[in-house]
Amino acid sequence: MMTTVERRVTDQIDRLTGDMVEFLQSLIRVPTVNPPGEYYDPCAHLIGDFLHEFGFDISYVTATDHPDHTPGFPRVNVIGRLQGAHSMPAVHLNGHTDVVPAGEGWTMDPFGGEIRDGKVYGRGACDMKGGIASAVFAAAALREAGVTLAGTLEFSGTVDEESGGFAGMAYLAEAGHISPERTSCVIIPEPLNVDRICLGHRGVYWFQIETLGRIAHGSMPFLGANAIDMMGRVLDRIDTNLRPELLSKVTSMPVEPPYARHATLNINGIFGGQTRTGVGTPCVADRCTAVFDRRFLKEEDSGEVRQEIADIIASLELSGELFKANISDLMLVEPVETDRNADVVRTAAEAIEDVLDLKPSYIASPGTYDHKHVTNIGGVSQCIAYGPGMLDLAHQPDEYCEIEHMVQSSKVIALSIMRLLGT
Ligand SMILES: [Zn+2]
Repeated sequence: MMTTVERRVTDQIDRLTGDMVEFLQSLIRVPTVNPPGEYYDPCAHLIGDFLHEFGFDISYVTATDHPDHTPGFPRVNVIGRLQGAHSMPAVHLNGHTDVVPAGEGWTMDPFGGEIRDGKVYGRGACDMKGGIASAVFAAAALREAGVTLAGTLEFSGTVDEESGGFAGMAYLAEAGHISPERTSCVIIPEPLNVDRICLGHRGVYWFQIETLGRIAHGSMPFLGANAIDMMGRVLDRIDTNLRPELLSKVTSMPVEPPYARHATLNINGIFGGQTRTGVGTPCVADRCTAVFDRRFLKEEDSGEVRQEIADIIASLELSGELFKANISDLMLVEPVETDRNADVVRTAAEAIEDVLDLKPSYIASPGTYDHKHVTNIGGVSQCIAYGPGMLDLAHQPDEYCEIEHMVQSSKVIALSIMRLLGT
C-alpha cells in the first residue's frame, strides 16, 4: 500500500513523463559507442548537469590510468550525491552510459531517438539509457514532490560496462566510491522487464589456448607439425569429455533462460595458419589460437574450473602424439548473488507489487554486468538489477524502450528509495 506522500511522488512521475522521454532522447542522441568509447564526456555532463538542477553534488571521475583511456576517448564517469540528514543508509543507483555499435538492420536512425507507438527507439534505448532516465527521474520526482530523504542518495553513470566495466564501475569501486562504509545497496536499472528482479549472475572464465606446431612445406606435411590438427584434438576432448560434464551441472540460481542454469562453454574465436585474404603459400600451420568463454556456476570452484582445462592440455601432452600448447587466462569473474531476503530485494519486490499490482519474479543473468564489481571489488553485498526494457531487445536492431515501462520502473525505484532511506 502506498502512503499519501508516496502517491504524490508517483503522480509527479506521471506528470514528468514527457520530460523523462525527452531526456532519454537526448541520451540516445549522444552516440556513446563502445568500442571505441565515444562521447563519454558529453554524456557524463548531460547526466551531471541534469542531476545538479535537482540538488545533487556532482563529481567526475576519469579513469586516467586505465589503458583504454586516451585523450581522444577519455573514460569519464559521473557521480551525483544527494546528501540526506544522515550519510547512511545510502542507496546508490548506477547505469552504464556506453552502448554497443548500431550494427546492420535498422529501419530508422539508431541515434535519432524516434518515438513510435509509445516506444522510444535507438541504440541504448533499452540497454540501458531508458533505465538511466527512469532512475534519474525517480530522483527528480522526489525533489519536485518536496520529499526530503533521511538517508543519502547517489547516482553514477559509468563507462565501458559492455567491455567489462573496468574503467567504469570497477574503477569507482577501487577508488572507494562503492564500499560498505558509504553504500548500503546498489540498484542497476538494466533492461530485465519491469516485473523481474535480477539477483546476480554466473561466473566467467575467458581463456586462450595456443597450440604450437612446426612450419614445413605444405606438400610434405609429415615434415612439420600442424598446430590446427592439434587444436582439433583439444576441441574433440572438450566435446567428448568436458561438455557432457558441464551439462550435468545445474545451479540453484534462477538463471534465465533456464538452459543457462547449466555450466556452458563457447568457442568465441579460432585462428590458425594462412590468412583468409589472398591465395597464401603452402605451409604447415605452426600456430593456432582459440578463445574460449566458460560460464560457471556458484556451486563450482573457479580453481577447479581452470584446472579442468589444464588437465585436458596435460593429458594431450602425455598422449604420445605430437602436441604442445599453452593456456593464458584472459578474464576471471566470480559469480555473485544477492540474498533474496536482503532489504533491497524485499523493498523492490513490495514496490513492484504496489505499482504493478503483481508479484515479481526473481532471476539471475546468464551473462555478467557491473554487479560483479559492486560485490567483488566494492564489498557491497546488496545489489540488484531492476529496470525498464526487455532483455531480448538489447544489442538488436530497432532497439526500443516502452514509455509505460519507464514510468512504471521509475515509480518502483522512487518508492524503493523512499522506503530504504526513510523520509
Ligand atoms: Zn546493459
